[in-house]
Amino acid sequence: MNRILTSQTPDHKGEVVVIAGWVHTRRDHGKITFLDMRDREGLVQVVCTPQAKDAYETAQKARTEWVLRIEGMVQERPEGTKNPDIATGTIEIVAQAITVYSQAKTLPFAIDTDGYEIGEEKRLQYRYLDLRRPRLLHNLVSRHRVLQFMRDFLSKEGFIEIETPILTKSTPEGARDFVVPSRLYPGTFYALPQSPQQYKQLLQVAGIERYFQIARCFRDEDPRADRQPEFTQLDIEMSFVTQEEIMEVIERLYTDIVKTLFPEKRIQKSPFPRHNYKDVMEKYNSDKPDLRENKEDPNELAFAFVVNFPMFEWKKQENRWDAVHHPFTRPQTENIEAIKKDPGSILAFQYDLVLNGYEIAGGSLRTYRPDLLAGVFELMGNKKEDIQTKFGHLLEAFEYGVPPHGGIASGLERFLAVLLGEPNIREVMAFPKTGDSRDLMMHAPSELDPVQLKELGIETKKKLAQKKK
Ligand code: ASP
Repeated sequence: MNRILTSQTPDHKGEVVVIAGWVHTRRDHGKITFLDMRDREGLVQVVCTPQAKDAYETAQKARTEWVLRIEGMVQERPEGTKNPDIATGTIEIVAQAITVYSQAKTLPFAIDTDGYEIGEEKRLQYRYLDLRRPRLLHNLVSRHRVLQFMRDFLSKEGFIEIETPILTKSTPEGARDFVVPSRLYPGTFYALPQSPQQYKQLLQVAGIERYFQIARCFRDEDPRADRQPEFTQLDIEMSFVTQEEIMEVIERLYTDIVKTLFPEKRIQKSPFPRHNYKDVMEKYNSDKPDLRENKEDPNELAFAFVVNFPMFEWKKQENRWDAVHHPFTRPQTENIEAIKKDPGSILAFQYDLVLNGYEIAGGSLRTYRPDLLAGVFELMGNKKEDIQTKFGHLLEAFEYGVPPHGGIASGLERFLAVLLGEPNIREVMAFPKTGDSRDLMMHAPSELDPVQLKELGIETKKKLAQKKK
């Protein structure tokens, strides 16, 4: 007989079924033992009595979190014992046979609470147990639904999902790169993408016109509690579009996600307001203001676009101009002399989407004139030779017929954390790292075997590694 899910059991009244899962709780009442069995869908009550002797004895031995297969008859619960708190609360299963698939040690922490009360290091070390918690399961399911919705929505709008390489070359997004040594070319390194920025632009040169990707991004930044070295973006790029058209796609997508998957939430203003960077800075002293009218209400969503950002900012420590978004962003003037004369006064075709005080997406129209792009790189302090080595491929590509293009990328975790009312992005990731970038379950990062290091032609400074410990 095939196993059915706990959620399906009420449809099988009067039938013998097989369920499988974990013992959530066990209650011994002398001649009757109750097992609450748990699977991905929820709980169901199983009744074991000495009438089925073997099953009864196994049930008495069983402990919480053991994994069992139970065959039994689904019956209506006697009046007065129905439990309206669980979906299967009108029925119970009278066990006929029980198989023990595996036993379980006592778990290091409780999993029937929301878990916020438990030290996070422990939760991350045993993440596979932590994920048994209904709250985290719900978060993973919500994440899946949002991703699936994004894929469907964009596919219907004519976008093509394309995967771009993970082993690649540095693309500036303002962070340090994670690098991977090449064994075949000793002394050389790949960089993990801070974003697929250059690839998605090159896909426009290729004529794709509407690209998207659920992209993993890697940024080696200084530890901060609510940052992750790798995170997921919905990454989009389009050809022949205006800034308004790109914002409009994202606005429709997010509105539909909220209305379909989170109907209890209220979008404060539709269409999303568009604010000038200068105005929000003056009024809120932040480029990601929390615009909620009622901050007490967990269901209030205040989306807004911030537009007309400055193109460049002066980096005091580095003594140079840097791009506020990234160098591929198109300045609102194409006059390179004017740009060079007063970089601080130039605005960019850049837009951020903010939600309840968080930046949840950012994008721009791109500079597609190679000479202008080279000028921007130069202004940012790159030497002519360096520009060729770092960005020659892109500048060359733009000499073979490049469409005007632009795009946006939106951080999945932050959006989900806001929607699910979670205090940090780790709660919406299956296997997050700690705030200081360690994987406590897999023990990463870790030292390499000397043989591996030798193959890679790498010598580590022992002292450095020791010091870190
Ligand atoms: N690559 C940018 C980012 O990760 C987004 C974009 O400009 O499309 O912020």
